[in-house]
Amino acid sequence: MEPARAADVPSELVAVRDDFGALTGYHSAQADVEVRLNTNESPFPPPAAWLAEFTAELADVAWNRYPDRAAIGLRQDIAALHGVDPSWVFAANGSNEALQTLLLAYAGPGRRVAVFEPTYQLHAHIARITGATVVSGSRRDDFSVDPDDATAFVAANDPAVTFLCSPNNPTGLVEPPELLDAVLAASTGLVVVDEAYAEFSTWSALDRVAEDQRLVVVRTFSKTWSMAATRLGYLVGPSWFIAQLDKVVLPYHLDAAKQLAGRIALRHTDDMERRVSTLVEERGRVTAALSDLGVEVFPSGANFVLMRTRDHDAKQVWQRLVDAGVLIRDCSGWSHLDGCLRVTIGLPGENDRFLAAMATALEPMTVRTQR
Ligand code: PMP
Repeated sequence: MEPARAADVPSELVAVRDDFGALTGYHSAQADVEVRLNTNESPFPPPAAWLAEFTAELADVAWNRYPDRAAIGLRQDIAALHGVDPSWVFAANGSNEALQTLLLAYAGPGRRVAVFEPTYQLHAHIARITGATVVSGSRRDDFSVDPDDATAFVAANDPAVTFLCSPNNPTGLVEPPELLDAVLAASTGLVVVDEAYAEFSTWSALDRVAEDQRLVVVRTFSKTWSMAATRLGYLVGPSWFIAQLDKVVLPYHLDAAKQLAGRIALRHTDDMERRVSTLVEERGRVTAALSDLGVEVFPSGANFVLMRTRDHDAKQVWQRLVDAGVLIRDCSGWSHLDGCLRVTIGLPGENDRFLAAMATALEPMTVRTQR
């Protein structure tokens, strides 16, 4: 039988939840191009030694058995990496699942979840799916958050969960410790710092996690560890919080291969750090070159850079880049991000291709605006 085409699908026979009316899914434009710099992945594959060890050790998995339900070995290894107790670690299928699990436990109907837009859209999206009300605090024009404004906003809304994202996606901005202090002091709920890009940055909130704090830090293997295909992330928080997540998550949610992949990756920390250094260096080069092209570039502590094309139409620049075989993220339609594009830092050759395409994409328009 032929699969149904969208046009042939009858209108819905069963009404979806009432509060889903205005909800749209999370989308990211894809295009078949040579240089993909749109989803903040690592451009490097994991080390060859990781792959060799992983494939060899897969043979020892008891495939007929369910995996270690609590992923104890993986939690212990992550805990050792950060020098914390394993009871402070929860691992999941990507940090998105970690976020979903914490929101299932701590958000929900009748509760508020606070974000500071523009930020990672999934925080608000998953919160809404749990039935929570999302409230957004304001940012200054340079995308920083005024700690006093944040204090007043959190005090007024009393959110069950407040998200900070540092470095923030999509702006790249590192949220300063003073902002975290202000939000923690004003909150009676959880404060979650999403640190998907923290290894590219200068500071982390990890060493502030404590049993008597409401602070949770979220990390991922998708970026610095070059393992986006594995879908592995985790969070670090006090044990009373982690115990609640273990009630919410589906049994055996982390398959044996994933647990193994993560544990083996942690044996190759030096390789990870080398890859991070290369990308940080390239970030500096790309930022300088974009500034030379007359583009407004926002300072980034991540593996991507947000820019504003000033008097050039961002959508047109984006399309010209696609035509030149380079895909970046068009953020210009997102709220607060008028005229903005985001580029992931790639391999040096990919960054060269991007910069050359960018120079060409801007040229004719520059001539036009100068007339
Ligand atoms: N948090 C942030 C800030 C992100 O940018 C991303 C990936 N785009 C994620 C979480 C999700 O990462 P993953 O589910 O791959 O771990």
